[in-house]
Amino acid sequence: MSKAKEKHAERLRALSLLGKDLTRRCRSHCELCSASGVKLAPFEVAPIQDIPDTEHAIFICDVCVEQLKTTKYIDVDHWRCLNTSVWSEIPVVQVAAVRMLKRLADKTEWSADLYDQLYLEPDVLEWIENDAE
Ligand SMILES: [Zn+2]
Repeated sequence: MSKAKEKHAERLRALSLLGKDLTRRCRSHCELCSASGVKLAPFEVAPIQDIPDTEHAIFICDVCVEQLKTTKYIDVDHWRCLNTSVWSEIPVVQVAAVRMLKRLADKTEWSADLYDQLYLEPDVLEWIENDAE
């Protein structure tokens, strides 16, 4: 195996180890859209840490993963779930939710309104800005 591949495999292993703690934290519901009874996977929230940990990862469904990864098509209606998740008490969930809301803010009235209502702690705000991969 090449070095890069080996590193990638190691990272996936480390991420999958977080599954148990994340399942407990999210009570088996997608941390962004609250879907239950679906497959959930850990998703790292930038900036990416040297070693993955639950404080920098969210446990989310396939629909949310796809939408976070794409820069093209966004299903605005799916993201009405942000009405709840931007108020999450878990910082990493809030960061991921607000970043998505920022992408939507100029698209619909509800997302712009929600964005205006947000009150964010300074350290959360700083994290949201720090989104380099
Ligand atoms: Zn979801």
